[in-house]
Amino acid sequence: MWNRDIGVDLGTANSLVYSKGRGIVIQEPSVVAFNKDSNQILAVGEEAKLMIGRTPGNIVAVRPLKDGVIADFDIARVMLQSFIKKSMGSGRKYRWAKPRVVVGIPSSITNVEKKAIIDAVIQAGGKEAFLIEEPVAAAIGAKLPIIEPIGNMIVDVGGGTTDVAVISLGGIVVNNSSKTAGNEMDEAIARYIKNKHNLLIGERTAEDIKVKIGSAVALEEEVTLSVSGRDLANGLPKTITIEGAECYLALQDAVGQIADVVKQTIENCPPELVSDILEHGIVLAGGGALLKDLDVMLAEETGVPVMVADNALTAVVEGTGLALEELELYKDMLRDRRSESG
Ligand code: ADP
Ligand code: MG
Repeated sequence: MWNRDIGVDLGTANSLVYSKGRGIVIQEPSVVAFNKDSNQILAVGEEAKLMIGRTPGNIVAVRPLKDGVIADFDIARVMLQSFIKKSMGSGRKYRWAKPRVVVGIPSSITNVEKKAIIDAVIQAGGKEAFLIEEPVAAAIGAKLPIIEPIGNMIVDVGGGTTDVAVISLGGIVVNNSSKTAGNEMDEAIARYIKNKHNLLIGERTAEDIKVKIGSAVALEEEVTLSVSGRDLANGLPKTITIEGAECYLALQDAVGQIADVVKQTIENCPPELVSDILEHGIVLAGGGALLKDLDVMLAEETGVPVMVADNALTAVVEGTGLALEELELYKDMLRDRRSESG
């Protein structure tokens, strides 16, 4: 029988599954739509995201991992199981062995939650479940030499949280987390447009603006974007043009807070590791790392070279995949393993 071990990144914004020998097989928004009255699950992932903000009263589309913590555990479990099952395929023609599953988890997660994730994996058909802390997975995925006695600094700017960690000899030496990340940037843009232009926009429009014209450093060239929403003066639809400079202004607080959490982590770091970081630089991962010039701004603020991982959006899941491929090498980093008899 084939072995289809899988690695899972349950992110606040996106969930990804890596299948051994096949690569990334699922990359979908972490959203679940369900009927509030019957508790019936209607859609998971991409399909459910399209429903956000567009559902009738009895249907809700939620992000179960909202702020980096598991806001709704039952829904998170359903989502995890749905992605695991989907990645395993179905039908009689498949005769796969039960997979071993590595799941990336936030470092702040409680033991009860860890156990619940492991149970969910086993219920979904996993043979064995291993948990790996997300910053460690991100660093492995970004190809940092984390097993060596060198301080490696990774900053993962996701949707709900920014997680900063310094890893050496395979373990987290210092870490820090902030709720300021991609979602907060979107909210800052929506707030700015509401206050400045009296226009109400949805969260997906705000995200779109951020991705297209947002930046962490004032742009040299002028860029504009037309944005539609609801005019607060009369409640009717309206389209305005906004400039990159406005977007930069709107994002300043959020990116400043990200710089602060990075600086605090460096301050808490043992001196030998600080000199390693100075020499090797800081690596950014997560979708939020793709905000234009976030690396440039962080380098200016910290005085340390900063680079964005070339697989920023997939570093965590690729890290879980590498950990799977080399379970022996990474076994000390994989915690709370539980194997089921069969
Ligand atoms: P999580 O691990 O929390 O699921 P991700 O690492 O998938 O989060 O990152 C999602 C965040 O990255 C979202 O807030 C999204 O808007 C943001 N993002 C994705 N691409 C870009 C981009 N090109 N510029 C700025 N932000 C981006
Ligand atoms: Mg993530």
